[in-house]
Amino acid sequence: MYQILDGKKTSLELQQEIEVAVATQIKNGGKQPHLAAVLIGDDAASKAYVGHKVKACAKVGFKSTLIQKDSSLSEGELLDIVKGLNEDVDIDGFIVQLPLPDHINAQLVLEAINPEKDVDGFHPENVGRMSLGLSTFLPATPSGVLALLERYGIKTQGMHAVVVGRSNIVGNPMSALLRRNAEPGNCTVTQCHSRTVDLKSHTLRADLLITAIGKANFITADMVKEGAIVVDVGINRIADDTRKSGSRLVGDVDFENVAPKCNWITPVPGGVGPMTIAMLLTNTLQASNARA
Ligand code: NAP
Repeated sequence: MYQILDGKKTSLELQQEIEVAVATQIKNGGKQPHLAAVLIGDDAASKAYVGHKVKACAKVGFKSTLIQKDSSLSEGELLDIVKGLNEDVDIDGFIVQLPLPDHINAQLVLEAINPEKDVDGFHPENVGRMSLGLSTFLPATPSGVLALLERYGIKTQGMHAVVVGRSNIVGNPMSALLRRNAEPGNCTVTQCHSRTVDLKSHTLRADLLITAIGKANFITADMVKEGAIVVDVGINRIADDTRKSGSRLVGDVDFENVAPKCNWITPVPGGVGPMTIAMLLTNTLQASNARA
């Protein structure tokens, strides 16, 4: 019988621990951590993600600032906002919610963020530090996956991990973190992408399968090894007439048919998603402590 890696419950536990740490910090005369988020345009998913982040800040006792601008904002204007946040002594860390409108070079914006305030861990300096195994802000989604495995006492050393996806926010850092000489880590990592030939031959060899593809129910039961640990990062909206909204969220994994083959599996929703928020808060607390 498979067991669930419950990201919702684990995220709440982590948030409670952060709340206690913040209360103690403030009681001892320390600073209230302050996270800022920049949201450009009116993409519904981005609005929802940022909304969750702001709400989570309030819950753990952080100050938060939301800077919301119309999609007509120019690249130069956004760079000015970033400069202002870099210079604002009260802001410990900030994020620029991706994706950005097409006329803005996202890489240029990410590189303009002060690495010491880059709580998303996307600045090349922090990506480099992560790859070298140096202390830094780890990207929230892959570090959320590691935290989830850790909280469930799963030791990954020696496992063959297969990561499907090579984005800079999930697949690439996930692979880098799993191959580190650390626990969780010490995996032998295979990384797949859309040009991988015979994907199934790779996924079938995974002790730990991590999917960050963005295709609903793409990983089917015949692609998964008996007894595997499956972590589904994907968030995909599909039509569902039985729901009032007419749709629902599913992962990249065909949960219903894959779960019975697994030892452990994450659900969607309620798996990696909530962990991502907890790790952003962890990074912000780390930024605040580093500046104290
Ligand atoms: P992305 O940038 O679109 O990357 C998707 C990756 O999947 C790419 O590397 C792509 O390969 C690969 N891929 C696409 N089709 C494939 C196929 N048929 N076979 C093998 N690989 C294939 O997406 P992302 O930003 O990494 O996000 C991935 C998913 O995770 C999305 O559903 C997103 O919503 C979700 N997500 C969730 C969280 C969370 O908190 N839970 C956070 C971030 C993202 P190529 O590189 O060759 O194109």
